[in-house]
Amino acid sequence: MKRILVIEDEKNLSRFIELELKYEGYQVGLAYDGRGGLEKALNEDWDIILLDLMLPNLNGLEVCRRIRQVKAIPIVMITARDSVMDRVSGLDSGADDYIVKPFAIEELLARLRAVFRRSGNDEAASNQTTYHYRDITVLKESRQVFKLDHEIEVTKREYDLLLAFLENINIVLTREVLLNKVWGYDTEVETNVVDVYVRYLRNKIDSPDEDSYIQTVRGTGYVMRT
Ligand code: CA
Repeated sequence: MKRILVIEDEKNLSRFIELELKYEGYQVGLAYDGRGGLEKALNEDWDIILLDLMLPNLNGLEVCRRIRQVKAIPIVMITARDSVMDRVSGLDSGADDYIVKPFAIEELLARLRAVFRRSGNDEAASNQTTYHYRDITVLKESRQVFKLDHEIEVTKREYDLLLAFLENINIVLTREVLLNKVWGYDTEVETNVVDVYVRYLRNKIDSPDEDSYIQTVRGTGYVMRT
């Protein structure tokens, strides 16, 4: 799911944008002033930033410049005045595009899609199958695993094993079934290779202060339960 940060001090407008973007399937974060926005922009991961030009504390141009010094993330400026000056300085400061208030939401959505396309993040990427289990998110097609906001590096085998569990929530998978699904052959090989890989996976996704993501069903196999 694409994450969009909206930095806009007019609360009615940002609330409206938030609702519309959420309806379109985006995940939305809000900030109401320049400094707060800059902090959120730098400390969290976003796919795009919508940035108002006129902001309290730190103006939009300055926020844009400072984000640009550190991150290459796409920025769309929102400007109240349709003056050439604003647009030029917005683009000079590193913005990818701008939109003039008042704007129709369809126009904003079109701009966002255009920016995503240009940044190589086209629609197809956002349509990939996503699995959520507790704090774990898996993007199936790009084979990425996240725990909260952190990406976890997994090997191909670990990934396939994790996916087997996520696609069979609440179903106990025997070692033989897992071996077949993940390794692609039957029980000729030692089934304890499954135990070894479950251990690798637990080491990567579990936290010491919580129950394991993968539960052992004694004498049978493993399961992820809701
Ligand atoms: Ca403003």
